[in-house]
Amino acid sequence: MANRIFSTLPNSIFEEMSGLAMSLGAINLGQGYPDDPGPEAIRAKAADAVLNGNNQYPRTSGLSELREAVANHYRRTQNLDLDWTTEVTITSGATEALAAAFFGLIEPGDEVIVFQPLYDSYLPQIRRAGGVARLVTLQPPHWRFDRAMLEAAFTERTRFVVLNNPINPAGIVLPHEDLALLAEFCVAHDVIAICDEVWEQVVFGNSQHRPLIAYPGMRERCVKIGSAGKMFGLTGWKIGFLCAAPALTKAMSSAHQFLTFTTAPNLQTAVAWGLENSPDWWSAMPRALERSRDRLVDGLRREGFSVLSCQGTYFINVDLPASGISEGDRDFCLRAVKEAGVAAVPVSAFYEQDPVSTIMRLCFPKRDEILDAGIERLAKARELSRKG
Ligand code: PMP
Ligand code: GLN
Repeated sequence: MANRIFSTLPNSIFEEMSGLAMSLGAINLGQGYPDDPGPEAIRAKAADAVLNGNNQYPRTSGLSELREAVANHYRRTQNLDLDWTTEVTITSGATEALAAAFFGLIEPGDEVIVFQPLYDSYLPQIRRAGGVARLVTLQPPHWRFDRAMLEAAFTERTRFVVLNNPINPAGIVLPHEDLALLAEFCVAHDVIAICDEVWEQVVFGNSQHRPLIAYPGMRERCVKIGSAGKMFGLTGWKIGFLCAAPALTKAMSSAHQFLTFTTAPNLQTAVAWGLENSPDWWSAMPRALERSRDRLVDGLRREGFSVLSCQGTYFINVDLPASGISEGDRDFCLRAVKEAGVAAVPVSAFYEQDPVSTIMRLCFPKRDEILDAGIERLAKARELSRKG
């Protein structure tokens, strides 16, 4: 017999919507990936490493050159002081880093605080590790938590909190006061924070990503997770970074050892090169994305859609009722892909309890003509929805 946790889960919403988009020939503004091929110089390094480099198992903790490049990158961009020899592990994407954190750290019965909307791999992995999830629900349009919400969630059995910041799908970057508050609770309750910061470089305008590990008392009780897939817009590469103090790293890298053991060496080589040789990328990439974001937001607003503010990630969110759509998010997204030829993601899929079902997420790093056609098709879907 299959186990209860995984056998009863539906397909991931990304798989479902991309599958529909592909089979129906629809424009895909659902799953989060850019439609350009990614930085050519980094892809050329990977190709060269495949042809001329080492193609055998790397060390389980990752190539030294990449671990050092990760520590250097975080020193330059976030002023962090990580010892790459004892505090950085390379994983097969952030998804595997999260699994290694949960399997390496959680003891059966430990309470784990998780904020919804949540990335879909968290709950099944936490539960399979024996954790008991306690959900804190964030609501649009601000998606923030406060002291009363944390007071209600933290108990004497709380051992971990999982924080995604910048938040997918909300598109917000948490401000300093929220992070300081969470750090205060972690220290007071002796809790470890597992921080999914994969969107740390995809931040726009004056918004600033602040890593929780830099807050007072958090250096030894924080796991910081990053992803080269998001940093360089190469989402299929699945190169993740797991950073934490040595005692935490030891437990998590041991779990990583028995999850995947290691990660493709040629892609590691190319990411290491990219981190050390792309000084302009970190401002050019968000600027280019911001242009696409604005094109989609402006076009949707011209059509009468109501769009929430977006400070980071690849995603904007449309408020359906405020856009004159009375259907729930899932029904509207199914109608949009089947009847109007455009795929989106219903935000209710990111909630386990009491879902917010009035918001549709759209992915904007796409060519202008795709965005323009997407706007037209979404307007058509709204017309069809109004006719019922
Ligand atoms: N966490 C969040 C919040 C994400 O949005 C994603 C991917 N979009 C991941 C984790 C997974 O990252 P990776 O592809 O590196 O496994
Ligand atoms: N994280 C990506 C998104 O939010 C999708 C990742 C996946 O397909 N599992 O769209």
